[in-house]
Amino acid sequence: MQEKVKYLIIGQGIVGTWLSYFLQEKGISYKVVNDEKISSASSVASGVMNPVTGRRIVQTWMIESVLPFAVDSYQAFQKNESVEIIKEAPIVLIHPSEQMYESFEYRLTHDNVYLSKNNSEQWNTMFNTPYNSGQINSCYWIDLVAFLKLGRLKMKAHYINAHFDYKDMTLLEKGIQWKNIIADHIIFCDGINSMQNPYFKTLPFAPNKGEALILKIEGLPAKNIYKNNVAIVPWEKDLFWVGSTFEWSYSDSLPSIAFKEKMISSLEQFLKLPYTIVDHLVGIRPANTERRPFVGLHPKYPQVGICNGMGTKGCSLAPYFTDQLIAHIEQGTPIEKEADINRFAALLS
Ligand SMILES: Cc1cc2nc3c(=O)[nH]c(=O)nc-3n(C[C@H](O)[C@H](O)[C@H](O)COP(=O)(O)OP(=O)(O)OC[C@H]3O[C@@H](n4cnc5c(N)ncnc54)[C@H](O)[C@@H]3O)c2cc1C
Repeated sequence: MQEKVKYLIIGQGIVGTWLSYFLQEKGISYKVVNDEKISSASSVASGVMNPVTGRRIVQTWMIESVLPFAVDSYQAFQKNESVEIIKEAPIVLIHPSEQMYESFEYRLTHDNVYLSKNNSEQWNTMFNTPYNSGQINSCYWIDLVAFLKLGRLKMKAHYINAHFDYKDMTLLEKGIQWKNIIADHIIFCDGINSMQNPYFKTLPFAPNKGEALILKIEGLPAKNIYKNNVAIVPWEKDLFWVGSTFEWSYSDSLPSIAFKEKMISSLEQFLKLPYTIVDHLVGIRPANTERRPFVGLHPKYPQVGICNGMGTKGCSLAPYFTDQLIAHIEQGTPIEKEADINRFAALLS
């Protein structure tokens, strides 16, 4: 028997979860197809929303719009639920060098919104702090393990655990058909798998490998995120996520001994507390050369859309741009120019 919906979503990472959630909230019909055997970047990400970036500690792209929207969205998502998805968690910056200390001190008095001084002495029993420490405020930690699990529960009646194969899809004059489902729009939220997508494979994807260790650290408070050359982020239960790397060139997507050794060596210099390693994760970020998302409908096949390319910032960008995509399709409002895939119209058609 055929089933008709407005949207068919491929993928239930951070992006697919937000798209489904907003459609559900608006009472718009949808189905989500997600292959649980495919590993997703969202399931290994640390879940940090940090308003600043880089060695110069500048504000990240569109943070003044994206961050408040994301915070409100995660809070609404967890409302009336028994799990806490979003927590405010200031980043304690344990400066790794004189240069980074100076960069922080400079930013404190130049265009500063998010940085503040802190008392290094309070961290001396836990970390080596030869170059002092500072703090980044308005940072949040998203419990992505709980978020993805709760998302799946919220969309239970619309969720299909299956592999989507292009050969099972037919373009209709106004819509698409996949197996027994007819939809007005199909939206690809399938992370790096969009690189094989016949409609979108010409987009300038630049996948990026990242690894992390999961540690049990005795006596470290889980109310902060800690950053030196590596980041230590609260994880589920009483564990911590430690990472990461940004590899643009890699030969496999497996955990590497080199990464593990590098983390152990960094922790030796930085962390004073005893720890044990309980897991080693790896994921591929759906990044791109422009570091801007890919959002919108195909210029030639408007029944086919994409929401992807979130790179290192899926937690903060996904709520904002999935909401924008729905408004674009339903009300014809524009998508942020720098994120709109129309900038690649020539490439796509
Ligand atoms: C080590 C690491 C650390 C990170 N840390 C952070 C962080 O702290 N903060 C932050 O904001 N971002 C972080 N990121 C980036 C973040 O993970 C990504 O931006 C985000 O997860 C991308 O989400 P997505 O939904 O686009 O893709 P994905 O999470 O990859 O989801 C894609 C989904 O599509 C499904 N799928 C794919 N192909 C098919 C198919 N053919 N049929 C059916 N289903 C399919 C997969 O099963 C998967 O569930 C990190 C990434 C890594 C690797």
